[in-house]
Amino acid sequence: MSKLLCDKDTGDTIIVKVKDVEIGNKKKVVISGPCAVEDYDTMISIARQLKLCGVNILRGGAFKPRTSPYDFQGLGREGLEILKAVREEVNIPVSTEIMDTRDVEEALNYIDVIQIGSRNMYNYSLLKEVGKLKTPIILKRGISATINEWINAAEYILKEGNENVILCERGIRTFETYTRNTLDLNAVAFVKNNYRLPIIVDPSHGTGIRELVHPMSLASIAAGADGLIIESHINPELSISDANQTISMNTLSDIITDIKKLY
Ligand code: PEP
Ligand code: MN
Repeated sequence: MSKLLCDKDTGDTIIVKVKDVEIGNKKKVVISGPCAVEDYDTMISIARQLKLCGVNILRGGAFKPRTSPYDFQGLGREGLEILKAVREEVNIPVSTEIMDTRDVEEALNYIDVIQIGSRNMYNYSLLKEVGKLKTPIILKRGISATINEWINAAEYILKEGNENVILCERGIRTFETYTRNTLDLNAVAFVKNNYRLPIIVDPSHGTGIRELVHPMSLASIAAGADGLIIESHINPELSISDANQTISMNTLSDIITDIKKLY
């Protein structure tokens, strides 16, 4: 295998800074918020509570990659505006998924972190485009991507000059059907051993089941993850998308307390 910029022995361990939050340093980072940005009032209530719980970065999708084109596709530009308003009001950095190269430049006016979703991990034009920025990128693992393919996707971003890449294990598709995906914690330990990028885990998409988010969050941290990205809502059952895997503010607060106990 040829040498990669991601390889552990090619440079210092990368710590990605999002405002004053450091991902990949000793402190575990928690990113949380609803699957989708639904409206301003819901988003601001969620953000206020998350901030009180000690969440470091707010998430929320403005552009939603849904399996069915008939499902809610996100608020688009309006969603970005809500994120920006909430960011200013609550003083918390925000992260959202960008699916299209044409939206990259515009998005920089609204958000602090760009998520590349699982379905776009192989979108090399998008990877090259975000590689030209200095903005932190969360690169989710493709639904059926090997670690090698995922690392090479990260390499596309690094090669263009953007070292601010955070890998995100979000479960892979296996023969198992009781859970939405199979959370591959091997990948977390493997990445930590072999590469110099920070890695976080998404136990929400990784399991698809609300009750599994707490135990798998702790397992992820025990496996060496630098942080978590978790779907949460003030009214989980009423979430417009991914309600089944969305947890309450109380559960999120318990997870954060338990992580602190672990470390
Ligand atoms: C998300 O985090 O909003 C999302 C759609 O996740 P994934 O790309 O991992 O499916
Ligand atoms: Mn979701």
